[in-house]
Amino acid sequence: MGHYLDNAATTPMRPEAVAAMLPLLTEGFGNPSGAHRLARAARQVLDDAREVVAEALACLPGEVVFTAGGTEADNLAVRGVVEARGGRPLCSAIEHHAVLEPVEHLGGVVAPVGADGRIDLERLEGLLDPDITLVSVMAANNETGVVQPLADVVEVVRRRAPRAAVHTDAVQAACWLDPGAYAAGVDLLSISAHKFGGPKGVGALVVRAGVEVAPLLRGGGQERDRRSGTQNVAGIAAMAEALRLAALERADEGARLAALRDRLVDGLVAALDGVVETGVVDGDRGHKLPSIAHLCIEGVESEALIFLLEKEEVLVSAASSCASGAMEPSHVLVAMGYDRALAFGSLRLSLGRTTTEADVDAALAAIPPAVERLRRGPRR
Ligand code: PLP
Repeated sequence: MGHYLDNAATTPMRPEAVAAMLPLLTEGFGNPSGAHRLARAARQVLDDAREVVAEALACLPGEVVFTAGGTEADNLAVRGVVEARGGRPLCSAIEHHAVLEPVEHLGGVVAPVGADGRIDLERLEGLLDPDITLVSVMAANNETGVVQPLADVVEVVRRRAPRAAVHTDAVQAACWLDPGAYAAGVDLLSISAHKFGGPKGVGALVVRAGVEVAPLLRGGGQERDRRSGTQNVAGIAAMAEALRLAALERADEGARLAALRDRLVDGLVAALDGVVETGVVDGDRGHKLPSIAHLCIEGVESEALIFLLEKEEVLVSAASSCASGAMEPSHVLVAMGYDRALAFGSLRLSLGRTTTEADVDAALAAIPPAVERLRRGPRR
């Protein structure tokens, strides 16, 4: 596997989640909507998984809608609420594209963030009006790891846009933050199994009782008419097991990874000039997920750096994407006010359950010489 430091992109599946999944792919393959014993057994698996997910997300089982991942859960929240209520959506400028694109598609409003990567509450207040029916602010950002002040967002929305439901994309946060604390008062919440040791293509949207969402998918009426289509029973059972274990281990793992993350970032900042850690104010990492180290490195382009690091078996990511042949800086860094040149040097090192001291050592050994080599430019 090499030194895998890209857990915010996806995580290896937990063995316990694989074990939960396998029998449901073989003998336990029933369709949970049917009537015979195989179908009833599959329905029982689904009911049990729904209870586990509800407990982990501090909601009722009937409020859990299983989806085919985080993107679908986000789309269902934004499009489903706006179709049901009319009006317009609003989201923060640093949302994942799974929120940003549907909001923009519906003619919605995009609210700015400050240089620290947190939503600007005053400007949010100014943008809210009674025509806004859905406000989406992510629990924690997938590039910077910055945690958003959700309780304050809920308070402002209730006051200024009383028709609006509040959605949070908790895809990155679910593993690391306690939803009972950070998402209290939120109406809708998205998760995705592959970010916490479950399989890809499985997720859930919590839809609080009384909040109506128009379905994206119509058909057999599964998930109480909110999401038609035969459920991915094996994937859902695996997600439930992964989420249950992540919640159990959250405090210990969070502390372990925060210490590793600190050693990693502090080591890189000490070894290199021109390194900026994003989302940190006066050295305070209190608003960052323990799992994400995010840096902007002057004088390098992250694509080239990633390539050099891969040769040393250190697997990391950048946030800029190559769209239609032209490099675009990350919309998150642009929203935070970073200039393009610095934004092109962004590097995300994301830690997870399988990350060890040796992975951090390898990154600390590989990154400074790679950066220096790139800064010197091509050999003549
Ligand atoms: N939202 C956030 C914050 C994410 O990081 C991701 C995945 O990168 C998604 C949504 C999309 O989730 P999925 O890959 O399950 O569609």
